[in-house]
Amino acid sequence: MDKERKLIIAGNWKMNKTVAEALDLVNGLKRELANVKDVDIVVCPPFTALCEVSKSILSAKNLSLGAQNMSEQNMGAYTGEIAAQMLKEFSVRYVILGHSERRMCQAESDELIAKKARAAHAASLKPIVCVGETLTEREAGRMEKVLETQVHGSLAGLTKDQMIETVVAYEPVWAIGTGKTATSQQAQEAHAFIRQLLVKMFDDAVARKVRIQYGGSVKPANARELMSLPDVDGALVGGASLEVRSFADIIKNSI
Ligand code: PEP
Repeated sequence: MDKERKLIIAGNWKMNKTVAEALDLVNGLKRELANVKDVDIVVCPPFTALCEVSKSILSAKNLSLGAQNMSEQNMGAYTGEIAAQMLKEFSVRYVILGHSERRMCQAESDELIAKKARAAHAASLKPIVCVGETLTEREAGRMEKVLETQVHGSLAGLTKDQMIETVVAYEPVWAIGTGKTATSQQAQEAHAFIRQLLVKMFDDAVARKVRIQYGGSVKPANARELMSLPDVDGALVGGASLEVRSFADIIKNSI
């Protein structure tokens, strides 16, 4: 597929996989995806599996490691938190920030997410910043307002250079883990809208370079159509990233 921006497909394993299961999964992906080029493939295991998965993908040039969250603080008395520099020890390159599950369950605000994004860049980690509206917000005609607030708030204070190295994931909350996927038209409209917000916040050249992933029940069967949309530059995959077959097929069907 000939795209303006390089595709980035990331698997968010969430709170799944013991170390042994994580190694099975990543070893299977290494075998299945050994010859795949021209797409950035990222696996985001739970913190507890980062060390072993990191060692395993040393031999796989086309796989990168991502974390699912990090602290906005560098170090200190923050029980239970993980700092960017700790992720760097395991050669983590990406970090998912502001996933809707964290916005909901941990009450993460746009302001906090922006602090984390700036801390990630300060440590040369690339943030994958998630935004997306709920079904109630969409049905109330508030999708654009919600996206505008989240994009402005969660990316506040980034420089142009940092923004170019940031990935935005558009994840309509109603499509996450529900089996409901946004239609092509809904996805393209939301992605184009987010890119326009980036033009206003930064400039046209920056907005053209930023990769915007779609997330929400991506599967092998719908990946090709979604990835062919002009403003969709990849996918953030939850459930279907937990099995070698489905994640590998999503990637193969996307290129
Ligand atoms: C997600 O949680 O980021 C996600 C997109 O999940 P799923 O693919 O299972 O809808």
